[in-house]
This record gives sequence, structure tokens and C-alpha cells, in this order.
Amino acid sequence: MEKDNLPTPGAVEAYLRSLPLRIRWRLWLGGRRYLTTLFLDRTAPLVVIAHSFRDASRAAQLALAIEQDWFLAPAASREAYEEILFKAPGLVIVQLRRKNLCGCLGHRHVLVNELPFVVAHEAFRAAGAGEMDIAYDRIGTWAALPISDGALDARFLAGSRLEEFHAEQFRLRVLSVLLHEINHLVFPQEPESSVRERSLAFYREALAHYVERTISTMSFTIDRSFSRFG
Ligand SMILES: [Zn+2]
Repeated sequence: MEKDNLPTPGAVEAYLRSLPLRIRWRLWLGGRRYLTTLFLDRTAPLVVIAHSFRDASRAAQLALAIEQDWFLAPAASREAYEEILFKAPGLVIVQLRRKNLCGCLGHRHVLVNELPFVVAHEAFRAAGAGEMDIAYDRIGTWAALPISDGALDARFLAGSRLEEFHAEQFRLRVLSVLLHEINHLVFPQEPESSVRERSLAFYREALAHYVERTISTMSFTIDRSFSRFG
């Protein structure tokens, strides 16, 4: 896609402000808010996180995962999504929910139904839009990789970093669900098994990378403190 045709956060925010007053009021009174973000190393797709004002901190955590945790994942893991993100619609709308009635972690939507984005608008230029939902709280109770995740927990139990580890682990799960659903948007015919394998591989590799990075700084600190007794 030509760079000039890419939607920018500013253009989307200006578009939202330019909606007719009755629509803006309807969205505002309904508690609807929008947060726009990009993968740190990419100019597309632009991700719009549609959420309730009550879920502002959940939306901020998802944005942090897209910006920071994606960027810190190993290059080879990010490359597995290169074609998918390249072919993704320029605008990806994420409806952030706490839970889904069906219990799923997320779904791709066949049609865009988030009110301001239903009608294509010139703010989005020729980008095209795709939509999904993500059940944020449900992801918290999801046993992604029970055996290896449990083993990692044990490595942090001895240290004081367990809480930090769990926060990172949670954001990487949310990020892997987002990538999984973008994969479905781009390749709707790809079988679930291969889409899942790719997203779990991303989660596993990114988490292992985080653990190695963190453990090496932890043991450095411990070694330093022990050396005083040497
Ligand atoms: Zn799936």
C-alpha cells in the first residue's frame, strides 16, 4: 500500500470528532471510547480499540502489548506475521469486551459493525477495514500452554518478579489472540489448527524471550550481592 494511502491516528481521531453531533452524543452517552495505536515498527495496520469508558485500563494494556511487547518479541517470531500484517486491512477495529457469551477468546467479524466505521470514510482513504472482538477477561483464565507456563512460574516464584511476569504473560496472551484474529481476517480459508499453531508459537517464543531477558538481569543482581561475601 502506498504510504499516502495509509490512515493515521490523527486522521481517524479527526474523523471521530467530525461525526454528526447526534452520533457523537449517542456514542459518548453509551460510554463508547476509541484508542488508536500502531505496531511500533510498522506504519500499518492502524488498530482502533473500541471500548467502554469502564475498560480504559484494559484498552491501555492492549495498546501497550501492540506497541511495546510486539516490538520486544524476537525478530523471527515477528517475521512469522510479516505477510499477514502486510496484507491486513489498513484499519483493524478491535471491539474490546470482558467476556463473550459463547466463551470464546475472540472472533473475526465478517462485516464491520462498530458504528463510526460501518460506512467507509475518506479519513481511511483506500485502506479498507476489518473487525474483530477480543474477550479480555476470558483470556486471563485461559490456560494457553499449561505445562510450560507452570514451569516458568516456578522460575519466578523464588524471586519478587512473579507479579511482573504475570502481567507480561497476560499481555502476550492478549497480543497472540489479536494476531490470531488478524490471521483469520487475512486468510479466512486457513484451517484453525494452523492459525492456532502460529499464534501459540508466537506466544511461546515471545514469553521465553522475555523470561531469558529477565532471568539474566535477576541473576546478575544476585551474583553482585553474593560477591560482597566472597
Ligand atoms: Zn481461531
